[in-house]
Amino acid sequence: MRPNFKKMELIPAIVQDYQTKEVLMLAYVNEEAYDKMLEINQTVFYSRSRKKLWHKGEESGHFQDIKGIYLDCDLDTLLIYVKQTGVACHTGAYSCFFNEVKPYDTRNIFSELEKTIEDRKIHPVEKSYTNYLLNEGVDKICKKVGEEASETIIAAKNDDKDELVGEISDLLFHTFVLMNDRGVKLEDIENKLKERHKVVGNKKEFHTRGEY
Ligand code: AMP
Ligand code: ZN
Ligand code: ZN
Ligand code: ZN
Repeated sequence: MRPNFKKMELIPAIVQDYQTKEVLMLAYVNEEAYDKMLEINQTVFYSRSRKKLWHKGEESGHFQDIKGIYLDCDLDTLLIYVKQTGVACHTGAYSCFFNEVKPYDTRNIFSELEKTIEDRKIHPVEKSYTNYLLNEGVDKICKKVGEEASETIIAAKNDDKDELVGEISDLLFHTFVLMNDRGVKLEDIENKLKERHKVVGNKKEFHTRGEY
């Protein structure tokens, strides 16, 4: 399958971070750029301002290694998943889309939580509860995970949704501290869940290990 260059000489290409799915930039691809891109497995565009082929990163060293390429329904738009070296934007921003016209909270709070815990470990903060837990070690952290699991059960039985949301949040926070202590990455959990999220027949389904 190829883009329909007969319909459009320049095909827009949306470039996304392959892990976070953050949109990094949009550029255009002609047939020559497309073939070159597949050959070297890094993004190559056609620069409309400079009117020539543009191997992204050629001056800055900020290359984009291609992880996946998709075409839209009518083959006139590309979606490219990349591993970005450095930053995507020539201003130094990671993504070109930093101008907030109508701001919206796009944070992935789980990966922010993971990063914050790791940051506390590397740069300890006085009176930080996370540092207290990490210093106490695995036994203390496990005890807290157990307590929060019990509190979650009690909240569920109390039929109080706000309380339950609070206790599940406590449980997840302590679970993330445990993950950090044991060297388990959020990505490891995502990969395990993806492994279980398999196609059976024509449907993608979760295959959990739950017991009836
Ligand atoms: P680079 O491909 O990163 O080495 O940059 C080469 C030139 O392309 C720079 O001098 C910038 O003017 C331009 N450029 C780089 N990245 C972008 C971008 N994301 N959007 C628009 N222009 C860019
Ligand atoms: Zn289209
Ligand atoms: Zn930019
Ligand atoms: Zn609690």
